[in-house]
Parts: sequence; C-alpha cells; structure tokens
Amino acid sequence: MRASKPALLRRVGLNASSRLQYLTRPKPLFRPNTISTRSISTSATAPAAIVAENPTKQTPPPPTAFTYGAYQKVGGPNAKSVYRIRIPKFESLEAERAFRKLHHAAALRWLGYQGYNNEGAGGHVTVRDPIMPDHFWINPHGKSFSHMRPEDLVLVSKDGEVKEGGNMHSINPAGYIIHAAVHEARPDVVAAVHCHSVPSKAFSAIGCKLEPINQDACRFYNDHGIYSGFGGIAFKADEGKHIAQALGNTKGVILQNHGHLTVAKTVDGAAFLFGAMDRCIQAQLLADAACAGRGTKTVKVGHEEASYTRNTYNDEMVYIMFQSAFEDVIKASHGELPMHVQGEIPRE
Ligand SMILES: [Zn+2]
Repeated sequence: MRASKPALLRRVGLNASSRLQYLTRPKPLFRPNTISTRSISTSATAPAAIVAENPTKQTPPPPTAFTYGAYQKVGGPNAKSVYRIRIPKFESLEAERAFRKLHHAAALRWLGYQGYNNEGAGGHVTVRDPIMPDHFWINPHGKSFSHMRPEDLVLVSKDGEVKEGGNMHSINPAGYIIHAAVHEARPDVVAAVHCHSVPSKAFSAIGCKLEPINQDACRFYNDHGIYSGFGGIAFKADEGKHIAQALGNTKGVILQNHGHLTVAKTVDGAAFLFGAMDRCIQAQLLADAACAGRGTKTVKVGHEEASYTRNTYNDEMVYIMFQSAFEDVIKASHGELPMHVQGEIPRE
C-alpha cells in the first residue's frame, strides 16, 4: 500500500514546518510533457548550448515541441546542428485541413487575449479549405475568440452557404462579404484577419498609409493598400470587392473610417501581420503626435533599407513570427488544444 504524501515527507526527514511549505508550494501552471501529442525526432545532434547546460544527458529533448528538422548552417561547417521552426507539410489534405483549423482556432484565441474581440460579435478570421479551395472556414457569429476550438469553426462556400462538415452556426454577414471577396481576388491567400482595434479606428480616420519610421514598420513599406471609399457596414457585395481591390497584391489594407485587414499564406502569418500592423499604427500615431508638438517631422528609413527589411518578411518568416504566440495559446489551453495534428510531416 502506498504511503500518503505527508507520511512520505516525514520519512525523508522534513519537519512539520518544511512539510507544510512543501505541501502548500505554488504548483507549476504547465506540464509541457503532457501537451504535445506527437513525439519529435531526436536523431539530429542537440544544440550545443543545451548539451552544455545538461552535461549528464546524451540526447536532450528539443527545446520546444513545434520545431522541426536539423539546421546545419549556423556558425560554419563544423557547427552543431540546431533545431528550427518550419511550416510543416502533410501526409494528406485531411491532415492539412486539421492543421489549418487548429491554427485558426489558436489565432482566434490569441486575438481574444489581445483584446481584439472587443466589439461583441465583430471581428472575423477566415482560412481557405485545402480540400475545397473555393470554401473557407470562419469563426461563428457571437462566440468568444478566447474559447475557440477547431470544431467551432464554420465552413462556408464562396456563395455564402454554411456547409455540413463544419459547425452549423450563423456567421457575421459582413465578415462573409469582405472575406469572400478577398479569397476570390487573391487565390494565393490562405487566411485573412480583420478586427476593429482602437488605434486602427483612429489611424484610419486620418487617411494616410504607414510610413517606414522604424524597422518593424518597414514590413509594410510599399506593401499595403488604403481603401478610402467607406461604403457603410459591408452588407453589400460591392463593398467587399472594393476592399479586395484596395488590398491588391499586398499583405494588408487600411480601411479608411473602419480599421485594417491583413492576409497571408498561413493563418499564423495573417494573425502576426494583423498585430504587427496594429502596433505600427500605434507607433506612428505616437510619433506624429510628438512631432506635431515639437513642430518637426518623423525621420524615415531610406528606400533601399526599407525595401530590404520588408523582403525578409516572407511567408515562412511571418509564420515563424507567430509561433511564440501559438505556444502561449496551446499551453494556456491546458490540453484542450494539441500542439500538433496527426499527419504533419517534419521538414528538414
Ligand atoms: Zn469591420
């Protein structure tokens, strides 16, 4: 028969005060080993820094469960391999659909945590379906972003019909109008994010674009549009088409008198760009206000440097940039959302 915990503590020599301290100690929030549903290959040599910290372990686990593959290029030909984050590939379109829905739900949770679910039933995130590319998944009307699960997402045809296979729930009609037009105009786009943030509501009333006033703002240098013809809440198809035209081939659009919208080839990338654009908007508002008080103008990054910086934010990079937020969401779900889906293929 197993001894009780207090009895075990007596046996190992702890006095009453120490036993009380042990039994009432703060519990860790997360148990990372219980989060991942898939073991990661440890065939690659572990990063040197980790080996140094754990000299008794021959094959320490990878630093995080979402990294894939060995990366040999850092530090010259004799450098130890390190793990890196890649967009995974998939054994089947069904696996890719499950991946997109998991990351869709996680992106919505993150947007909720950031306070972007502040307009009641407003705000929408869509992800193109890999099996039926003229269909997309969207969050159900009125459900909190912060509690979204893959099974809550609604499957919609390009004509606005809610289809079986997803959650049979109503959707935001303006969300359908805007996102259907974007997905139709941009076959390369997998995901689109649009919410109403306070900075964006203020900035969009000014009628200007983001300027390259810092490194992060360069992500959007000559790579976002402005839609200046607000036509009322988007219940008419023409409003969606006009927004898609203003977006053009860029990664985001300022919707004048409305807010902003971002797109990417992953929902992770679209969510990262949405938050990044919002923070750049806040920075420009602050800098312009300060300059107005001083009677000066902001200093801009040069064309060549801004273009070079923008070009580093490719599809893979914007996906990578969201993965710390994805990890936060997965661990905060306490096992409700898994780190991986079945059928993800690690990439070297
Ligand atoms: Zn809106």
